[in-house]
Amino acid sequence: MAPLTHTIERIRGIDFAARGKQLGHLSIEHSNNEFDGAVIPVPIALLAGSDGPTVLLTAGTHGDEYEGQVLLHELIRTLDPGSIRGRIIVLPSLNVLAVREGTRVSKVDGANLNRALPGNAAGGPTEQIARILDAGLLPLADFALDIHSGGSVNEYVPSVFVYAGPTREVWDRKVAAVEAFGQPYCVVVEPNYVSGSISGAADRAGVLMISTELGGRGTVNRRLLADARTGLYNLLAHVGVLDGGTPQSGGATGGDGRHRKDVAYVQLGAGAAVMARAGGLFEPAVDLGQRVGAGDLVGRVHFTEELDRPASEYRAHIDGLIATLRHPTLVQTGSTLVNIAVPLAAPSRLDN
Ligand SMILES: [Zn+2]
Repeated sequence: MAPLTHTIERIRGIDFAARGKQLGHLSIEHSNNEFDGAVIPVPIALLAGSDGPTVLLTAGTHGDEYEGQVLLHELIRTLDPGSIRGRIIVLPSLNVLAVREGTRVSKVDGANLNRALPGNAAGGPTEQIARILDAGLLPLADFALDIHSGGSVNEYVPSVFVYAGPTREVWDRKVAAVEAFGQPYCVVVEPNYVSGSISGAADRAGVLMISTELGGRGTVNRRLLADARTGLYNLLAHVGVLDGGTPQSGGATGGDGRHRKDVAYVQLGAGAAVMARAGGLFEPAVDLGQRVGAGDLVGRVHFTEELDRPASEYRAHIDGLIATLRHPTLVQTGSTLVNIAVPLAAPSRLDN
């Protein structure tokens, strides 16, 4: 493992002790046919005001998930550092190669950044970003938010996505943050759901973290973007770096200071996915957010070249609600058609 100082040295143009707005980059190095030892700069901004907590905001962890990228670019341009108590570290295009390509992961190394932590300072570009995040940025943060959407392949019910645990005290603080962000759903997964994820690393580092899943289909949904903007400013007020209700320039409005109490908590377990047994054309039989019972039809897959073969039917294997819906019609064996989430009676059910 590279020492921490080496990781910090690769964050260029940012003095973490200074106030005001600074724009810099993570220095990612790569040498292949396209990048002959060139630096691949990952943009980073530091917005720092008076003394207070440090918040880490990331988007573009997957390159084809867009609401968070748009929102964080807007925040860098419009938020007055003088209105901040503490620091906000912002990386709107975290996996910059995937962002350039408009894909979930970059074709340069094919690695999934949200599976790559703690990373490797001597690895490929994605592993280097993961290393700087794990050893350089997360240790600076008191709170972290990583803004995902469903990506090109999926659409999600608008959700905060959160890891259960790791302790009762931390879980209670996550629930308060979930309600401050205020999406219709909160998808809860088991503690350390994916150990190489940013959420997993944050739990290990003792950094309070929530994530999101906002729509998808590789596009920006205007309503979801507006809701996420309100949620983001409410969250920043909730963690204490902004005042609630502070109007922002550039058309963005501050949080309304109200915490949402009607979040529907659902659990996405290991058996949530309904997967295609063979390739073909997926015809959904359900809508996103629809309640289903075990045995209900969720979709069909039509065979493209066998005219006498009936479409395969796919049925829910559990009671729940449709939390994700496959977007591209063409599916392959193993493609996830829907994920079925199970409603939770109360967040405290997942305490340990
Ligand atoms: Zn994602």
